[in-house]
Amino acid sequence: MKGPLCEECIKSGVLCEECSKKLENKEISELDIEVARLLYKLEKRDLVRGASFERAHLIGNLIVISTKGRVGTLVGKGGRVVRLLSHELNKKVRVVSVSNMKSMLADLISPAKIQGINIVYKPSGEQTKVIISHEDKYKLIAPRETLEKAANLLSDRTIVLEVK
Ligand SMILES: [Zn+2]
Repeated sequence: MKGPLCEECIKSGVLCEECSKKLENKEISELDIEVARLLYKLEKRDLVRGASFERAHLIGNLIVISTKGRVGTLVGKGGRVVRLLSHELNKKVRVVSVSNMKSMLADLISPAKIQGINIVYKPSGEQTKVIISHEDKYKLIAPRETLEKAANLLSDRTIVLEVK
């Protein structure tokens, strides 16, 4: 299990000096620690193997777990791992790859599909407009605003999600 805090801290239930500092400086959050320890527990029960994640964010009622590893590892067969996480955390959970912007967006809005991505130039700067078709609106795991916030948190661009 690899997470935003060290392995010792994931296993031990207490925080070392370095990880305490990270928590103080808000480089990691209580939620990151909770998710890391949950995944470690699931690994011990052999329910997940080789899990790794970058950060866990609570946005609205949704927890978004970002990873540079394989999304499938954290989702599990038939969504088993994500369901267990969701049950333990008592929130909806979405696992998102942050290896590139397009897969991050695709994971976030799945099973809805990206219909198009347009770059729009505004006086305030460049915007990346992501278009989702109207029929796909009801497939979104969370309200459009929540997903838009998540996308902006996980990207250094300004992202606008638009349902057309
Ligand atoms: Zn530590």
